[in-house]
Amino acid sequence: MQLSKMTKEIELLKEVDEAFPCMEMPESAELLFHQDQCRSCAEVRRYLDASRGVKADDALIRFIHQQLYHLSPVAFRWILPSYLKFCLSSVSSQEEVYFLVYNLSPDQEFQEDTYRRLSALNAAQIRCLIHFLNWCSGNECWVEIRGDVDKAIKFLHTVKAE
Ligand SMILES: [Zn+2]
Repeated sequence: MQLSKMTKEIELLKEVDEAFPCMEMPESAELLFHQDQCRSCAEVRRYLDASRGVKADDALIRFIHQQLYHLSPVAFRWILPSYLKFCLSSVSSQEEVYFLVYNLSPDQEFQEDTYRRLSALNAAQIRCLIHFLNWCSGNECWVEIRGDVDKAIKFLHTVKAE
């Protein structure tokens, strides 16, 4: 049981590497989702600009997990592989998984924003996200949010990507 679980995680890590080519952090002007006046966006920009040039480490993922709504489509695509690897590798990634799942299971009023945030992802990358959510769905760690995980999987199946 333990072994097959490990295998699943290793498979997913490999899929993340294959689906997401290495990318530099987007330019400062391309990082954010909202126009001027969003305080969280300004904070995200400050933090990311200060982290520019270094690898997206665990501290950055821990900072960004509550700020996913403020990332532009290209910034979301940039951070996603590091984020997914963090969730797959860290035993203490519960909150980070929750926030990603909530981000991907929007209520009606946020669906358009979410489609836009996912618009830089190609079909293989969306598929990778669905496989990640399937892993969450089959894992007892996330049993509390299984409804949201299923909602996110359904939502991602409605995303049009090439
Ligand atoms: Zn914002």
